[in-house]
Amino acid sequence: MPSQLQCMDCGATYPMNQVIYACTACGGLLDVKHDWSELTITRELFDQRLGTLDAPYRSGVWRYKELVYPDVPDDLIVSRPEGNTNLYHVPKLAAWAGVDTLYLKHEGENPTGSFKDRGMTGGVTQARVLGMTRVACASTGNTSAALASYAAFAGLEGIIFMQNRQIAVGKLAQGLAYGATCIQINADFDRNLALVRQISDELGIYVLNSVNPFRLEGQKTIMIETIQQLKWHVPDWIVVPGGNLGNSSAFGKALYEMRQLGLIDRLPRIAIVQAEGASPLYRAAQRGFDHLEPMKAETIATAIKIGNPVNYPKAVRALTWTNGVVEMVTDQEIMDAKALIDAAGIGCEPASACSLAGTRKLVEHGVIQRGESVVGVLTGSVMKDPDAIIAYHSNQLEDITPTYQNRMRQAGDSVEQIKSILLGESVPTP
Ligand SMILES: *Cc1c(COP(=O)(O)O)cnc(C)c1O
Ligand SMILES: [Zn+2]
Repeated sequence: MPSQLQCMDCGATYPMNQVIYACTACGGLLDVKHDWSELTITRELFDQRLGTLDAPYRSGVWRYKELVYPDVPDDLIVSRPEGNTNLYHVPKLAAWAGVDTLYLKHEGENPTGSFKDRGMTGGVTQARVLGMTRVACASTGNTSAALASYAAFAGLEGIIFMQNRQIAVGKLAQGLAYGATCIQINADFDRNLALVRQISDELGIYVLNSVNPFRLEGQKTIMIETIQQLKWHVPDWIVVPGGNLGNSSAFGKALYEMRQLGLIDRLPRIAIVQAEGASPLYRAAQRGFDHLEPMKAETIATAIKIGNPVNYPKAVRALTWTNGVVEMVTDQEIMDAKALIDAAGIGCEPASACSLAGTRKLVEHGVIQRGESVVGVLTGSVMKDPDAIIAYHSNQLEDITPTYQNRMRQAGDSVEQIKSILLGESVPTP
């Protein structure tokens, strides 16, 4: 049977070649459902492809093509390629967080600097399958950078709806650089998402926000690749920042399917970490997931500054499947954890640091045990938001103390002054 789309609520199915983002019967979110009964899917199949120079399997997404989109013709695949990101073993950060074993999976090492590339290769490939010539998204920045790049790569028109405030400069610049049609709109992310869905519907443009299930199929490979890098050993915990909750939803689906296929024999627990000022999932969790209460979002971690996450039902499902938890961290905790990740030579953007800050907090709260192994996902690159770095280290962030400050030193054109800095003597400021 070919793959199809299926409503997660009522089970209604739709063919893959239909342009549709929600169930027309009940409004539920759609899953891509594959039929694997005719395929042989083993660890060895994926291990054999490691190191290949050939497309599409050299991509860290399409290496797992059978799990992502088994019957798509290879010549329609739009791939930079993406994935193949490093998994860092970080003993010092582990000690700071209070666990023995911590790895950081650095999705900021993707072509445009965030995990969104893994979703975009799936989504733009589907745009080509559907014969769409224009693709659009609303974005806090990284989705638009990825969309602009992949659309240009595929020869499609990319269209970006951006917030008018607080877009990190590394993200804004990428949209312009890759030649997308960029529209700055006087509205926040949640409103922009509503606008892009309405307007795209009316104009026949393909929407590539994470409500698009093909994006989530690509993002599943973060989990598959991580576990392959661990030689198929399953960690106890996966810790991931949560904004629109597409990534955590994709992780849950990946892990569920991997166990179904016998690629793993148990599931790790997923911990979703939100910023205090953008924590509707956390608040719903406190109330036993009765319902999602949208909130006005505010946080320095702009990538997760989302108050009404569209993938809420799928994220709750992922938490149910994996016996997962939700945690919340302050902007102060985010920026301090980021400073430590940065100073370790690894670097990430503010939202990504939720993984480390959240791990520490979950240890403090007795949820994660010291002896358990943790993989934290770093979602975006250090180069995405240079303004936040400079403001932190020059102590210019309102209400945030730079606990791990690396202060810029000043010297005149003077051998004596420079030497006294390097010798650790105090110098009179010039
Ligand atoms: C998009 C993004 C997130 C949030 O992911 P969701 O799937 O929306 O929960 C976190 N960090 C970075 C860097 C992102 O770009
Ligand atoms: Zn339905």
